Amino acid sequence: MLFGTNGIRGKFNELTPNLALELAQAIGIFFKKGTVLVARDGRLTGECLKHAVISGLQSVGCEVIDLNFASAPTSEFALKTLKADGLIIITASHNPPEWNALKVVDKHGITLSKERGEEIERLMGNPKLEEWGRIKKSKKYEEASYDHIKSVKNLVNQEKIRSKKLKLVLDCGNGMAALVAPRLFRDLGCEIITLNSNVDGHFPGRPSEPTEANLQELIKTVKSVKAYCGIAWDGDGDRVVLVDENGGFIVGDKVYALCAISKLKGVKGKVVTTVATSKCIEDVASNFGCATVYTKIGAPYISEKVYESKAALGGEEVGGVIWPELSLAKDGFMTAAKIVEMLTERSLSGWLKEIPKYYNEKIKIEADQSRKEKIIQKIKEYAKKNKFNIIDIDGVRINFEDSWVIVRASGTEPYIRIFAEAKDKKRAKDLIEEYKKLTGEI
Ligand code: MG
Repeated sequence: MLFGTNGIRGKFNELTPNLALELAQAIGIFFKKGTVLVARDGRLTGECLKHAVISGLQSVGCEVIDLNFASAPTSEFALKTLKADGLIIITASHNPPEWNALKVVDKHGITLSKERGEEIERLMGNPKLEEWGRIKKSKKYEEASYDHIKSVKNLVNQEKIRSKKLKLVLDCGNGMAALVAPRLFRDLGCEIITLNSNVDGHFPGRPSEPTEANLQELIKTVKSVKAYCGIAWDGDGDRVVLVDENGGFIVGDKVYALCAISKLKGVKGKVVTTVATSKCIEDVASNFGCATVYTKIGAPYISEKVYESKAALGGEEVGGVIWPELSLAKDGFMTAAKIVEMLTERSLSGWLKEIPKYYNEKIKIEADQSRKEKIIQKIKEYAKKNKFNIIDIDGVRINFEDSWVIVRASGTEPYIRIFAEAKDKKRAKDLIEEYKKLTGEI
């Protein structure tokens, strides 16, 4: 099986140009020989894979529009504005530099999940080539970042932001955020200090996963220049984490909770998130009288649900937020701009006080496939017997009044993961112990 939760991902000797070409032919057939956009990030293998992808698409009769360098949210926004039939983004998001991937997005802006990817895999091998005289020339479109910036600006209160001249530190992590973030916030009249703001496929500044350990330079800079906040993106610019004015690191689920406050203040609607997300999202939504809809873990499932349920907002625990008024992609620039808009009213640490505090604990337990299945089955039976409130779309999440626990099988590794969250640390620890004991009996 080639498709994972986020497309086809691998090192260069796994996702080879030959495989990329074969995949692109199947994707072209999947998109019914329509117009397909192709974008890539700054990874060193990106150009080579791009040529293979374009060739594959053209060979089965697609029309290709080459966006060249573009962040993931920018490409997905272009998909909507150019009304294309599909999009392939060549990006491995936050993975190490030697990795790359093909992320496939349909015309609605929904990334293909593992399940939908299987359909493409079935179309692979022996594709019907287009007649030689009907192969279409590819077109270039390099204004996508500009269009995207313009639309994000139109969705925030520009005057209010401009009047405050907020000092921000932007850490683009040598990724695609460098194409959008500095220009966006300069246009909004902010005083910006940039870190790692050149696109570089070696990622010399920091690893592209925006963890607290990888963002020490950002934390230090925010404190030393006395900035209002620090903002960091992952490699393809769809996820955001923050540093508050005191240098405090703000994890992804809090970023999502802040966005929920910003959005639901104005527009009431459903909020979509995965079963692995902190209850603080549900709490914030219910304070506004809004419902939370849970999905399986993985961004494509969130997009699907946002689309189906016409939700106000979607998001995941690692700082990816979907703003349906812009696109069905996680958009790290819209997210950052909305948070900067909030900073015109209160400091970031002030806003954080609005978000209920939870403690969490997690462990992983080694288990092969058959044990994984037995464990999940047992936890399900245990929860049902006790008449607990459960969500069992992806592992088993058990919700209590002020806490919850999820027992879930990793899709890619031989582990069962247990994650618990509660209002106090001891309760979270006790939940982990209780469920660890249950899995130990198998
Ligand atoms: Mg990403």
